[in-house]
Amino acid sequence: MALIITDDCINCDVCEPECPNDAISMGPEIYVIDPSKCTECVGHFDEPQCATLCPVSCIPQDPAHPEDKDMLMSKYLRLVAAKA
Ligand code: SF4
Ligand code: SF4
Repeated sequence: MALIITDDCINCDVCEPECPNDAISMGPEIYVIDPSKCTECVGHFDEPQCATLCPVSCIPQDPAHPEDKDMLMSKYLRLVAAKA
């Protein structure tokens, strides 16, 4: 599953530079995650970096984007290929 930032976000700027897929950006009011780029950090790290670092724990999994590890790895490989 991609992760989602809830409206508990305090715009602390910690997560955005830590995302290895550049999936996090500032939205109209709070930071947002592009689900087409979030792999739960699969391919890069063992743990989702944003959720691990967020000081207010406001980045849960998004049930609107059900994906297993294989699907997340496929997304990672597509993102890497697109950058090449
Ligand atoms: Fe980026 Fe990883 Fe957070 Fe997804 S889980 S938004 S890939 S830092
Ligand atoms: Fe918002 Fe958490 Fe990201 Fe800080 S780390 S900007 S509180 S989502």
